[in-house]
Amino acid sequence: MSKVVIIGAGGVGTVVAHKCAQNHEVFTDIVLASRTKSKCDAVAEEIRRKYPKANISTDRVDADSVEELCELLRRHQPKMVINVALPYQDLTIMEACLQCGVNYLDTANYEPKDEAHFEYSWQWAYRDRFEKAGLTAILGCGFDPGVSGVFTAYAAKHYFSDMEYLDIVDCNAGDHGKAFATNFNPEINIREITQNGRYYQDGKWVTTGPLEIHQPLTYPRIGPRESYLLYHEELESLVQNFPTIKRARFWMTFGQEYLTHLRVIQNIGMARIDEVDYNGTKIVPLQFLKAVLPNPQDLGENYHGETSIGCRISGKDKEGKPLTYYIFNNCSHEAAYKETGMQAVSYTTGVPAMTGAMMFLTGKWVKPGVHNVEEFDPDPFLKVLAEQGLPWEEIINQDLEL
Ligand code: NDP
Repeated sequence: MSKVVIIGAGGVGTVVAHKCAQNHEVFTDIVLASRTKSKCDAVAEEIRRKYPKANISTDRVDADSVEELCELLRRHQPKMVINVALPYQDLTIMEACLQCGVNYLDTANYEPKDEAHFEYSWQWAYRDRFEKAGLTAILGCGFDPGVSGVFTAYAAKHYFSDMEYLDIVDCNAGDHGKAFATNFNPEINIREITQNGRYYQDGKWVTTGPLEIHQPLTYPRIGPRESYLLYHEELESLVQNFPTIKRARFWMTFGQEYLTHLRVIQNIGMARIDEVDYNGTKIVPLQFLKAVLPNPQDLGENYHGETSIGCRISGKDKEGKPLTYYIFNNCSHEAAYKETGMQAVSYTTGVPAMTGAMMFLTGKWVKPGVHNVEEFDPDPFLKVLAEQGLPWEEIINQDLEL
Protein backbone atom coordinates (compact mmCIF):
# COMPACT_ATOMS: atom_id res chain seq x y z
CA MET A 1 0.00 0.00 0.00
CA SER A 2 1.51 3.32 -1.07
CA LYS A 3 -0.44 6.38 -0.18
CA VAL A 4 0.63 9.82 -1.43
CA VAL A 5 -0.64 13.28 -0.63
CA ILE A 6 -0.33 15.69 -3.56
CA ILE A 7 -0.36 19.31 -2.34
CA GLY A 8 -1.43 21.87 -4.99
CA ALA A 9 -4.19 21.44 -7.57
CA GLY A 10 -2.94 23.81 -10.27
CA GLY A 11 -1.70 22.84 -13.73
CA VAL A 12 1.11 20.66 -12.40
CA GLY A 13 -0.98 19.11 -9.58
CA THR A 14 -3.62 18.11 -12.12
CA VAL A 15 -1.03 16.30 -14.25
CA VAL A 16 0.54 14.58 -11.21
CA ALA A 17 -2.90 13.39 -10.08
CA HIS A 18 -3.64 11.99 -13.58
CA LYS A 19 -0.32 10.19 -13.82
CA CYS A 20 -0.58 8.72 -10.29
CA ALA A 21 -4.11 7.53 -11.14
CA GLN A 22 -2.85 5.88 -14.33
CA ASN A 23 -0.31 4.03 -12.16
CA HIS A 24 -2.74 3.04 -9.44
CA GLU A 25 -0.94 -0.24 -8.82
CA VAL A 26 1.95 1.83 -7.35
CA PHE A 27 -0.07 4.79 -6.06
CA THR A 28 -2.75 2.75 -4.34
CA ASP A 29 -4.21 5.74 -2.47
CA ILE A 30 -4.08 9.31 -3.76
CA VAL A 31 -5.09 12.36 -1.73
CA LEU A 32 -5.21 15.67 -3.60
CA ALA A 33 -5.13 18.59 -1.15
CA SER A 34 -4.92 22.32 -1.76
CA ARG A 35 -6.03 25.69 -0.45
CA THR A 36 -9.18 25.68 -2.61
CA LYS A 37 -10.81 22.27 -2.15
CA SER A 38 -13.32 22.77 -4.99
CA LYS A 39 -10.42 22.69 -7.47
CA CYS A 40 -9.27 19.34 -6.01
CA ASP A 41 -12.84 17.99 -6.22
CA ALA A 42 -13.12 18.94 -9.90
CA VAL A 43 -9.83 17.19 -10.73
CA ALA A 44 -10.80 14.11 -8.68
CA GLU A 45 -14.18 13.86 -10.40
CA GLU A 46 -12.51 13.86 -13.82
CA ILE A 47 -10.01 11.24 -12.65
CA ARG A 48 -12.70 8.93 -11.27
CA ARG A 49 -14.45 9.13 -14.62
CA LYS A 50 -11.29 8.38 -16.62
CA TYR A 51 -9.62 5.87 -14.28
CA PRO A 52 -12.29 4.03 -12.29
CA LYS A 53 -9.69 1.79 -10.64
CA ALA A 54 -7.84 4.72 -9.09
CA ASN A 55 -8.55 5.51 -5.45
CA ILE A 56 -8.53 9.31 -5.10
CA SER A 57 -9.87 11.57 -2.36
CA THR A 58 -9.50 15.29 -1.68
CA ASP A 59 -8.82 17.56 1.26
CA ARG A 60 -8.21 21.19 2.13
CA VAL A 61 -5.01 22.61 3.57
CA ASP A 62 -3.29 25.95 3.92
CA ALA A 63 0.27 24.86 3.28
CA ASP A 64 1.66 28.04 4.85
CA SER A 65 0.67 26.55 8.21
CA VAL A 66 2.77 23.71 9.64
CA GLU A 67 -0.03 22.99 12.09
CA GLU A 68 -2.64 22.51 9.34
CA LEU A 69 -0.19 20.43 7.33
CA CYS A 70 0.49 18.17 10.31
CA GLU A 71 -3.24 17.67 10.83
CA LEU A 72 -3.57 16.71 7.16
CA LEU A 73 -0.64 14.28 7.29
CA ARG A 74 -1.77 12.68 10.57
CA ARG A 75 -5.26 12.26 9.11
CA HIS A 76 -4.03 10.50 5.96
CA GLN A 77 -0.65 9.01 7.00
CA PRO A 78 0.89 8.94 3.52
CA LYS A 79 4.31 7.49 2.62
CA MET A 80 5.19 10.63 0.64
CA VAL A 81 4.08 14.19 0.00
CA ILE A 82 4.37 15.41 -3.61
CA ASN A 83 4.61 19.17 -3.18
CA VAL A 84 3.34 20.97 -6.29
CA ALA A 85 2.00 24.06 -4.50
CA LEU A 86 4.17 27.18 -4.83
CA PRO A 87 7.87 27.49 -3.90
CA TYR A 88 6.85 29.65 -0.90
CA GLN A 89 5.44 26.55 0.83
CA ASP A 90 8.51 24.29 0.53
CA LEU A 91 9.85 24.87 4.04
CA THR A 92 6.54 24.55 5.88
CA ILE A 93 5.81 21.31 4.03
CA MET A 94 9.30 19.94 4.73
CA GLU A 95 8.91 20.85 8.40
CA ALA A 96 5.53 19.10 8.60
CA CYS A 97 6.95 16.02 6.85
CA LEU A 98 9.69 15.83 9.49
CA GLN A 99 7.23 16.20 12.34
CA CYS A 100 4.95 13.50 10.93
CA GLY A 101 7.53 11.03 9.54
CA VAL A 102 6.62 11.48 5.84
CA ASN A 103 8.95 11.48 2.82
CA TYR A 104 9.02 14.55 0.55
CA LEU A 105 9.35 15.52 -3.12
CA ASP A 106 9.04 18.92 -4.86
CA THR A 107 9.61 20.55 -8.25
CA ALA A 108 10.88 24.04 -7.38
CA ASN A 109 13.21 25.35 -4.70
CA TYR A 110 12.18 27.58 -1.83
CA GLU A 111 11.69 31.28 -2.43
CA PRO A 112 10.73 33.80 0.24
CA LYS A 113 7.60 35.74 -0.77
CA ASP A 114 9.14 39.17 -0.26
CA GLU A 115 12.37 38.58 -2.19
CA ALA A 116 12.69 37.23 -5.75
CA HIS A 117 15.63 35.05 -4.87
CA PHE A 118 16.07 31.31 -4.92
CA GLU A 119 18.88 29.15 -3.65
CA TYR A 120 19.07 25.68 -2.15
CA SER A 121 20.66 26.67 1.18
CA TRP A 122 17.28 26.92 2.94
CA GLN A 123 16.31 23.39 1.95
CA TRP A 124 19.79 21.86 2.23
CA ALA A 125 19.73 23.06 5.86
CA TYR A 126 17.27 20.19 6.50
CA ARG A 127 19.76 17.50 5.42
CA ASP A 128 20.73 16.27 8.89
CA ARG A 129 17.20 16.22 10.21
CA PHE A 130 15.85 14.18 7.29
CA GLU A 131 18.81 11.82 7.48
CA LYS A 132 18.43 11.26 11.22
CA ALA A 133 14.69 10.69 10.79
CA GLY A 134 15.38 8.10 8.06
CA LEU A 135 13.31 10.14 5.60
CA THR A 136 14.06 10.89 1.95
CA ALA A 137 13.51 14.36 0.49
CA ILE A 138 13.88 14.66 -3.30
CA LEU A 139 14.33 18.26 -4.45
CA GLY A 140 13.54 19.76 -7.84
CA CYS A 141 11.90 16.81 -9.60
CA GLY A 142 10.07 18.56 -12.45
CA PHE A 143 11.63 18.97 -15.91
CA ASP A 144 14.00 21.83 -15.27
CA PRO A 145 14.93 21.46 -12.49
CA GLY A 146 14.41 17.73 -12.56
CA VAL A 147 14.92 15.84 -15.80
CA SER A 148 17.71 18.34 -16.66
CA GLY A 149 19.64 17.02 -13.62
CA VAL A 150 18.83 13.39 -14.39
CA PHE A 151 19.95 13.86 -18.03
CA THR A 152 23.24 15.30 -16.72
CA ALA A 153 23.70 12.38 -14.31
CA TYR A 154 22.98 9.95 -17.18
CA ALA A 155 25.59 11.65 -19.37
CA ALA A 156 28.15 11.41 -16.54
CA LYS A 157 27.35 7.77 -15.85
CA HIS A 158 27.37 6.46 -19.41
CA TYR A 159 29.39 8.83 -21.59
CA PHE A 160 31.82 11.22 -19.90
CA SER A 161 34.93 10.96 -17.77
CA ASP A 162 35.01 14.79 -17.56
CA MET A 163 31.96 16.91 -18.31
CA GLU A 164 33.32 20.39 -19.01
CA TYR A 165 30.58 22.51 -20.57
CA LEU A 166 26.90 22.14 -19.71
CA ASP A 167 24.11 24.12 -21.36
CA ILE A 168 20.50 23.42 -20.40
CA VAL A 169 18.30 24.57 -23.28
CA ASP A 170 14.56 25.09 -22.85
CA CYS A 171 12.40 25.97 -25.85
CA ASN A 172 8.66 26.45 -25.89
CA ALA A 173 7.71 26.62 -29.56
CA GLY A 174 4.03 26.44 -28.73
CA ASP A 175 1.40 29.03 -29.59
CA HIS A 176 -1.63 29.53 -27.33
CA GLY A 177 -3.14 32.31 -29.40
CA LYS A 178 -3.13 34.91 -26.57
CA ALA A 179 -1.24 38.21 -26.75
CA PHE A 180 0.37 37.53 -23.37
CA ALA A 181 0.10 34.63 -20.96
CA THR A 182 2.55 32.71 -18.81
CA ASN A 183 2.78 28.93 -19.01
CA PHE A 184 2.84 28.36 -15.30
CA ASN A 185 2.07 30.44 -12.24
CA PRO A 186 2.55 34.03 -13.57
CA GLU A 187 3.90 35.35 -10.29
CA ILE A 188 6.64 32.72 -10.08
CA ASN A 189 7.33 32.92 -13.83
CA ILE A 190 7.71 36.73 -14.00
CA ARG A 191 9.84 36.82 -10.83
CA GLU A 192 12.18 34.25 -12.42
CA ILE A 193 12.57 36.02 -15.74
CA THR A 194 12.95 39.61 -14.56
CA GLN A 195 15.84 38.91 -12.21
CA ASN A 196 19.52 39.12 -13.22
CA GLY A 197 21.00 36.34 -15.32
CA ARG A 198 23.77 34.25 -13.81
CA TYR A 199 26.04 31.46 -15.00
CA TYR A 200 28.96 29.46 -13.68
CA GLN A 201 32.43 29.81 -15.16
CA ASP A 202 35.73 28.44 -13.80
CA GLY A 203 34.60 28.15 -10.21
CA LYS A 204 32.81 31.52 -10.06
CA TRP A 205 29.32 32.85 -10.68
CA VAL A 206 29.06 35.56 -13.34
CA THR A 207 26.07 37.94 -13.12
CA THR A 208 24.49 39.52 -16.21
CA GLY A 209 21.62 41.97 -16.64
CA PRO A 210 18.14 40.43 -17.03
CA LEU A 211 17.96 38.69 -20.45
CA GLU A 212 21.17 40.51 -21.49
CA ILE A 213 22.84 37.54 -23.21
CA HIS A 214 20.98 35.87 -26.05
CA GLN A 215 21.59 34.00 -29.29
CA PRO A 216 19.60 31.81 -31.67
CA LEU A 217 19.79 28.08 -30.94
CA THR A 218 18.43 25.34 -33.20
CA TYR A 219 15.97 22.95 -31.54
CA PRO A 220 15.21 19.50 -32.99
CA ARG A 221 12.15 19.46 -35.29
CA ILE A 222 11.54 23.13 -34.36
CA GLY A 223 14.40 25.12 -35.87
CA PRO A 224 16.22 28.23 -34.66
CA ARG A 225 14.74 30.23 -31.78
CA GLU A 226 16.22 33.22 -29.93
CA SER A 227 17.37 31.87 -26.55
CA TYR A 228 18.11 33.96 -23.45
CA LEU A 229 20.54 33.21 -20.66
CA LEU A 230 18.75 33.03 -17.28
CA TYR A 231 19.76 31.90 -13.84
CA HIS A 232 18.11 28.60 -13.02
CA GLU A 233 18.24 26.76 -9.74
CA GLU A 234 19.61 23.38 -10.90
CA LEU A 235 22.90 25.03 -11.92
CA GLU A 236 23.71 25.47 -8.21
CA SER A 237 23.54 21.77 -7.35
CA LEU A 238 24.87 20.44 -10.68
CA VAL A 239 28.21 22.29 -10.46
CA GLN A 240 28.65 20.94 -6.92
CA ASN A 241 27.72 17.37 -7.79
CA PHE A 242 29.80 17.33 -11.01
CA PRO A 243 32.92 19.32 -10.12
CA THR A 244 34.61 18.78 -13.53
CA ILE A 245 32.12 21.24 -15.02
CA LYS A 246 33.94 24.42 -16.07
CA ARG A 247 30.94 26.32 -17.36
CA ALA A 248 27.22 25.81 -16.76
CA ARG A 249 24.48 27.93 -18.28
CA PHE A 250 20.71 27.85 -18.75
CA TRP A 251 18.89 29.15 -21.83
CA MET A 252 15.19 29.72 -22.45
CA THR A 253 13.37 30.91 -25.57
CA PHE A 254 11.00 33.88 -25.59
CA GLY A 255 9.08 35.45 -28.47
CA GLN A 256 9.36 39.19 -29.19
CA GLU A 257 5.68 39.74 -28.34
CA TYR A 258 6.18 38.14 -24.91
CA LEU A 259 9.27 40.26 -24.19
CA THR A 260 7.55 43.49 -25.24
CA HIS A 261 4.66 42.78 -22.86
CA LEU A 262 7.11 41.90 -20.10
CA ARG A 263 9.00 45.18 -20.60
CA VAL A 264 5.77 47.17 -20.37
CA ILE A 265 4.67 45.25 -17.26
CA GLN A 266 7.98 46.12 -15.60
CA ASN A 267 8.06 49.74 -16.78
CA ILE A 268 4.62 50.48 -15.37
CA GLY A 269 5.41 48.84 -12.04
CA MET A 270 3.14 45.81 -12.37
CA ALA A 271 6.01 43.37 -11.73
CA ARG A 272 6.59 44.87 -8.24
CA ILE A 273 6.42 42.37 -5.37
CA ASP A 274 6.20 44.91 -2.54
CA GLU A 275 2.86 46.05 -1.13
CA VAL A 276 1.23 49.25 -2.38
CA ASP A 277 -1.74 51.02 -0.87
CA TYR A 278 -4.78 51.12 -3.17
CA ASN A 279 -7.80 52.93 -1.70
CA GLY A 280 -6.85 51.75 1.77
CA THR A 281 -6.23 48.14 0.67
CA LYS A 282 -2.73 46.70 0.52
CA ILE A 283 -2.05 44.95 -2.77
CA VAL A 284 1.04 43.43 -4.37
CA PRO A 285 1.00 44.53 -8.05
CA LEU A 286 2.36 41.22 -9.38
CA GLN A 287 -0.29 39.26 -7.45
CA PHE A 288 -2.99 41.56 -8.83
CA LEU A 289 -1.61 41.06 -12.34
CA LYS A 290 -1.90 37.30 -11.84
CA ALA A 291 -5.61 37.75 -11.15
CA VAL A 292 -6.22 39.46 -14.50
CA LEU A 293 -3.90 37.42 -16.75
CA PRO A 294 -5.14 34.26 -18.50
CA ASN A 295 -5.08 31.28 -16.17
CA PRO A 296 -2.21 29.00 -17.35
CA GLN A 297 -4.51 26.01 -16.82
CA ASP A 298 -6.91 27.33 -19.44
CA LEU A 299 -4.32 27.65 -22.20
CA GLY A 300 -4.26 23.98 -23.14
CA GLU A 301 -7.29 23.85 -25.36
CA ASN A 302 -5.89 26.00 -28.15
CA TYR A 303 -2.21 25.30 -27.63
CA HIS A 304 -0.32 24.03 -30.68
CA GLY A 305 3.32 23.10 -31.18
CA GLU A 306 5.96 21.53 -28.99
CA THR A 307 8.36 22.15 -26.15
CA SER A 308 11.95 20.94 -26.46
CA ILE A 309 14.11 20.78 -23.35
CA GLY A 310 17.50 19.16 -23.02
CA CYS A 311 21.14 19.27 -22.02
CA ARG A 312 24.01 20.02 -24.39
CA ILE A 313 27.22 18.77 -22.85
CA SER A 314 30.82 18.62 -24.03
CA GLY A 315 33.99 17.28 -22.47
CA LYS A 316 36.02 14.08 -22.52
CA ASP A 317 34.54 10.63 -23.04
CA LYS A 318 35.41 7.58 -20.94
CA GLU A 319 38.62 7.12 -23.03
CA GLY A 320 39.61 10.77 -22.69
CA LYS A 321 38.61 11.74 -26.27
CA PRO A 322 36.55 14.91 -27.00
CA LEU A 323 32.80 14.28 -26.97
CA THR A 324 29.67 16.34 -27.53
CA TYR A 325 26.33 15.02 -26.34
CA TYR A 326 22.78 16.38 -26.58
CA ILE A 327 19.94 14.65 -24.75
CA PHE A 328 16.43 16.08 -25.00
CA ASN A 329 12.69 15.54 -25.00
CA ASN A 330 10.16 17.16 -27.33
CA CYS A 331 6.62 17.27 -25.96
CA SER A 332 3.48 18.18 -27.88
CA HIS A 333 1.02 20.60 -26.28
CA GLU A 334 -1.90 18.93 -28.08
CA ALA A 335 -0.98 15.43 -26.91
CA ALA A 336 -0.48 16.65 -23.31
CA TYR A 337 -3.87 18.35 -23.38
CA LYS A 338 -5.62 15.31 -24.83
CA GLU A 339 -4.27 13.11 -22.06
CA THR A 340 -4.58 15.38 -19.01
CA GLY A 341 -6.42 18.57 -19.99
CA MET A 342 -3.19 20.57 -19.37
CA GLN A 343 -0.56 21.98 -21.74
CA ALA A 344 2.98 20.66 -22.17
CA VAL A 345 4.64 22.95 -19.60
CA SER A 346 2.49 21.49 -16.81
CA TYR A 347 2.79 18.01 -18.35
CA THR A 348 6.59 18.06 -18.56
CA THR A 349 6.68 19.05 -14.87
CA GLY A 350 4.02 16.65 -13.58
CA VAL A 351 5.23 13.48 -15.31
CA PRO A 352 8.75 13.68 -13.78
CA ALA A 353 7.26 14.48 -10.35
CA MET A 354 5.14 11.32 -10.52
CA THR A 355 8.15 9.37 -11.85
CA GLY A 356 10.34 10.54 -8.95
CA ALA A 357 7.65 9.54 -6.46
CA MET A 358 7.38 6.16 -8.19
CA MET A 359 11.16 5.73 -7.92
CA PHE A 360 10.88 6.29 -4.18
CA LEU A 361 7.84 4.10 -3.63
CA THR A 362 9.35 1.21 -5.59
CA GLY A 363 12.57 1.41 -3.58
CA LYS A 364 14.87 2.70 -6.35
CA TRP A 365 15.42 6.20 -5.00
CA VAL A 366 15.45 5.70 -1.25
CA LYS A 367 18.23 7.66 0.47
CA PRO A 368 17.57 9.31 3.84
CA GLY A 369 18.53 12.99 3.76
CA VAL A 370 17.78 15.87 1.38
CA HIS A 371 18.94 15.24 -2.17
CA ASN A 372 18.83 16.76 -5.63
CA VAL A 373 17.75 14.41 -8.40
CA GLU A 374 21.21 13.97 -9.92
CA GLU A 375 22.34 12.20 -6.74
CA PHE A 376 20.17 9.17 -7.60
CA ASP A 377 20.58 6.47 -10.28
CA PRO A 378 19.32 8.04 -13.54
CA ASP A 379 18.67 4.74 -15.38
CA PRO A 380 15.40 3.51 -13.82
CA PHE A 381 14.01 7.05 -13.80
CA LEU A 382 14.69 7.67 -17.50
CA LYS A 383 13.23 4.29 -18.44
CA VAL A 384 9.96 5.04 -16.64
CA LEU A 385 9.91 8.66 -17.86
CA ALA A 386 9.93 7.49 -21.48
CA GLU A 387 7.19 4.92 -20.80
CA GLN A 388 5.07 7.54 -19.04
CA GLY A 389 4.89 10.03 -21.91
CA LEU A 390 8.24 11.81 -22.09
CA PRO A 391 10.51 9.82 -24.44
CA TRP A 392 14.00 11.26 -24.88
CA GLU A 393 16.54 11.24 -27.67
CA GLU A 394 20.32 11.58 -27.95
CA ILE A 395 22.58 13.24 -30.52
CA ILE A 396 26.25 12.35 -30.27
CA ASN A 397 29.24 14.25 -31.63
CA GLN A 398 27.41 16.97 -33.51
CA ASP A 399 27.81 20.74 -33.30
CA LEU A 400 26.22 22.00 -30.05
CA GLU A 401 26.25 25.66 -31.27
CA LEU A 402 27.40 26.77 -27.81
P1 NDP B 1 -0.51 26.94 -10.07
O1 NDP B 1 -0.49 28.34 -9.63
O2 NDP B 1 -1.31 26.54 -11.27
O3 NDP B 1 -0.96 25.98 -8.87
C1 NDP B 1 -0.50 26.14 -7.58
C2 NDP B 1 -1.42 25.38 -6.66
O4 NDP B 1 -0.93 25.50 -5.33
C3 NDP B 1 -2.84 25.93 -6.65
O5 NDP B 1 -3.74 24.85 -6.58
C4 NDP B 1 -2.87 26.75 -5.38
O6 NDP B 1 -4.13 26.85 -4.77
C5 NDP B 1 -1.98 25.92 -4.49
N1 NDP B 1 -1.50 26.73 -3.38
C6 NDP B 1 -0.92 27.95 -3.41
N2 NDP B 1 -0.68 28.37 -2.18
C7 NDP B 1 -1.12 27.41 -1.34
C8 NDP B 1 -1.18 27.27 0.05
N3 NDP B 1 -0.70 28.22 0.88
N4 NDP B 1 -1.72 26.15 0.57
C9 NDP B 1 -2.21 25.17 -0.22
N5 NDP B 1 -2.18 25.25 -1.55
C10 NDP B 1 -1.65 26.36 -2.10
O7 NDP B 1 1.02 26.54 -10.30
P2 NDP B 1 1.60 25.38 -11.23
O8 NDP B 1 0.78 24.16 -11.10
O9 NDP B 1 1.86 25.95 -12.58
O10 NDP B 1 3.03 25.13 -10.56
C11 NDP B 1 3.16 24.34 -9.39
C12 NDP B 1 4.62 24.27 -8.98
O11 NDP B 1 5.39 23.69 -10.02
C13 NDP B 1 5.27 25.64 -8.69
O12 NDP B 1 6.06 25.51 -7.54
C14 NDP B 1 6.14 25.88 -9.90
O13 NDP B 1 7.23 26.71 -9.58
C15 NDP B 1 6.57 24.46 -10.22
N6 NDP B 1 7.04 24.29 -11.61
C16 NDP B 1 8.20 23.60 -11.82
C17 NDP B 1 8.67 23.41 -13.10
C18 NDP B 1 9.86 22.53 -13.34
O14 NDP B 1 10.13 22.16 -14.48
N7 NDP B 1 10.62 22.15 -12.34
C19 NDP B 1 8.00 23.99 -14.27
C20 NDP B 1 6.71 24.61 -13.96
C21 NDP B 1 6.29 24.78 -12.66
P3 NDP B 1 -5.22 27.95 -5.20
O15 NDP B 1 -5.89 27.33 -6.36
O16 NDP B 1 -6.10 28.11 -4.02
O17 NDP B 1 -4.45 29.20 -5.56
